[in-house]
Amino acid sequence: MNNQSRLVVVSGPSGSGKDTVVKRLMQLHPQVELSISATTRGMRPGEKDGVDYVYLTREEFERRIAHQEILEYAEYCGNYYGTPKSEVDKRIENGITVILVIEVVGAANVKRIYPGATTIFVRPPSYEELEQRLRGRGTENEEQIQSRLRRAVEEMEYAVDYDEVVVNNTVDECAEEIYELILKHQQE
Ligand code: 5GP
Repeated sequence: MNNQSRLVVVSGPSGSGKDTVVKRLMQLHPQVELSISATTRGMRPGEKDGVDYVYLTREEFERRIAHQEILEYAEYCGNYYGTPKSEVDKRIENGITVILVIEVVGAANVKRIYPGATTIFVRPPSYEELEQRLRGRGTENEEQIQSRLRRAVEEMEYAVDYDEVVVNNTVDECAEEIYELILKHQQE
């Protein structure tokens, strides 16, 4: 097994349920660790700095890019999101499986830097379901929802670039399916 296969990238449109699935995966398999991203978007109710994201100003985010502290980043619906380098290299060298839950542009960049990484795309069962989930969580206003829905349609087209595609019908099944795929790629 090479170190890079310990790096796992999970993407999927906003509302696909990927965050919930990955959280469940880590409850079921606590040896797997999540990379905490940095972002310039505002904190949603219930989120915690340093737990859900590290929340930064645009100036600070750009400073970290300039100092090469960010492994990959992308702009998504008007905000920066990026993976701090410190979240990845030491952990995969130490044999830890690390999951990055990131959007499609960042995922493609990670695959360029780490061709051995395992990339997994989570699809919602249907567009209707995705819209329902996005509205149901009540964390975005209508304009933000529309922007995320448009981006979701664009993002679906990237699924073909991933090593694996899974459909999020039920959280537990999807979490186990992803875990099995991670193991399969680490055995190759
Ligand atoms: P949200 O605002 O819903 O938390 O995240 C918006 C999008 O940004 C999601 O697709 C999420 O996976 C993605 N994202 C979160 N962290 C990162 C990151 O570090 N890098 C990239 N490229 N995308 C990220």
